[in-house]
Amino acid sequence: MSETISIIVPSYNEEKSIPFFYEAICEEREKFKKIDVELEMIFVDDGSKDRTLEVVKELRGRDEQVHYISFSRNFGKEAGIYAGLEHATGDYLVLMDADLQDPPSYLMEMYQAIKEEGYDSVATRRVDRKGEPVIRSFFARQFYKLMNKISNTEIVDGARDYRLMTRQMADAILSMKEYNRFTKGIYGWVGFRTKWLEYQNVERVAGETKWSFWKLFKYSLEGIMAFSTAPLALASWAGVLMCVIAAIAIVFIVVRALMFGDPTSGWPSLACIIIFIGGLQLFCIGVLGQYLAKTYLETKERPIYICKEKA
Ligand code: UDP
Ligand code: MG
Repeated sequence: MSETISIIVPSYNEEKSIPFFYEAICEEREKFKKIDVELEMIFVDDGSKDRTLEVVKELRGRDEQVHYISFSRNFGKEAGIYAGLEHATGDYLVLMDADLQDPPSYLMEMYQAIKEEGYDSVATRRVDRKGEPVIRSFFARQFYKLMNKISNTEIVDGARDYRLMTRQMADAILSMKEYNRFTKGIYGWVGFRTKWLEYQNVERVAGETKWSFWKLFKYSLEGIMAFSTAPLALASWAGVLMCVIAAIAIVFIVVRALMFGDPTSGWPSLACIIIFIGGLQLFCIGVLGQYLAKTYLETKERPIYICKEKA
């Protein structure tokens, strides 16, 4: 019996890239036909404002292996991934960007690693960040370093979402129904045996990136809060530190007063201390508030996406 690989493609304003992407997959499809494996494509139109949906529908018109889901608005790539996994029917599932930054030529190697070497998933990571702004790469590296220190879940630097996995692993991912999704962490959390392939960064084929620096920054905070509670512990540790400093200061002041008397001075330093402690307290409450906000959204149990049409 022939096997099927479902290719899930989250697409947001990708009218220019999708035709190239489709061509590239068709090439791969020929190779897979020889070993009796089918490739199906599932485009997830994430509320695109351009002609993405029309382009996909046109492909669907002449190719049975093309499927699509269209969201009622932009829900973000994470929601797209979730919807794609949910709708895919294949024995194996692979996530790919529409911009060909995830080279389809690796598919065969990935498939063989699962079939022959017994892995549950094959993931990819970029070994360099060529073509990316320097500041962005710098912050990205720092993020991964910090993340791995404060979280028990392993998050690999440079890991892309490009990953082939078994049905079993996909089901495990789908069983995590959280609203604030950080897929890179979810992969690590569900575990399974993963093989890593490395490749050089490839620049997108057409269109432009949807990730501004600010968006990425917010996404990194998302990741930290979804997979680590270290910032919450920060408040207690800062409290302990402050107590120690205060104890030392008290001893110092008492000894000084006994030895040199007590001239009325020192109010500027007092003001500074009050402002500092006040700031620290507000900061800690803020951290608490961030987690509370996330919890608030989770308890609402809102759907991760809303599908407007599909085929
Ligand atoms: N994407 C999406 N929803 C969004 C933003 C992006 O589905 O809100 C898709 C996008 O169409 C692309 C993939 O996610 O297929 C990666 O986006 P992009 O190439 O802009 O990110 P980069 O590769 O620059 O990190
Ligand atoms: Mg890209």
